[in-house]
Amino acid sequence: MPDRVTAAETRLGLVRRARRIDRILGETYPDAKAELDFTNPFECLVVTVLSAQTTDKRVNLASPAIFAAYPDAKAMAAADRDVLEKLVGPLGFFRAKTDALLRLSAALVEEYDGEVPAKLEALVKLPGVGRKTANVVLGNAFGLPGITVDTHFGRLARRFGWTEQTDPVKVEHEVGALFPKRDWTMLSHHLIWHGRRRCHAQKPACGACPVARLCPSYGTGPTDPEVAAKLVRTEGRN
Ligand code: SF4
Repeated sequence: MPDRVTAAETRLGLVRRARRIDRILGETYPDAKAELDFTNPFECLVVTVLSAQTTDKRVNLASPAIFAAYPDAKAMAAADRDVLEKLVGPLGFFRAKTDALLRLSAALVEEYDGEVPAKLEALVKLPGVGRKTANVVLGNAFGLPGITVDTHFGRLARRFGWTEQTDPVKVEHEVGALFPKRDWTMLSHHLIWHGRRRCHAQKPACGACPVARLCPSYGTGPTDPEVAAKLVRTEGRN
């Protein structure tokens, strides 16, 4: 089925195929965006911390009350732990998450007067903020190009033959080199949406995949269109 992938693909061929895949995914998922709700960099950091081990939908339900009580880092740093724990409660791991939010907001207040820094190197030094979270914040809250290598992004980049790396930083660099910087943030959304809806870790919906012809991993999941159609999810991580 894949007719545009050959073993001897040149670098130029790889770049063209990668960009073509991204274009098709962009057309397939025109609404692709961060599935967590936030309105500023501080909220983006907080919801990303909260989203560990739970669904975006649950975070989106719980976060309005949290931001009504604590609209910025200064307010959150001064929060009463018990009150914050109750608000975080529905999201599970509430002690650890409350702890993370208190340490994060205290660091923002101490080091940046309550503002979120717009630099990767500064973001990753904040307590509980890894490179993935930092790139989400840069790309989605500051509008700066950022590649978010989560589990979906890494899996799809390898299935597409864009990289063989498993280390997220190496994946980020190798895939980043195939695309202009301005495309990085949307590329991340496209891959994550495709991973959540069709190209699942187990049983990807290959027979209902818009980039099947460009994918060297076609056949990893069912290729029968009817079987594959049943695997397609219309919503993401809910
Ligand atoms: S669903 Fe199948 S064909 Fe589509 S990208 Fe994933 S592995 Fe490739």
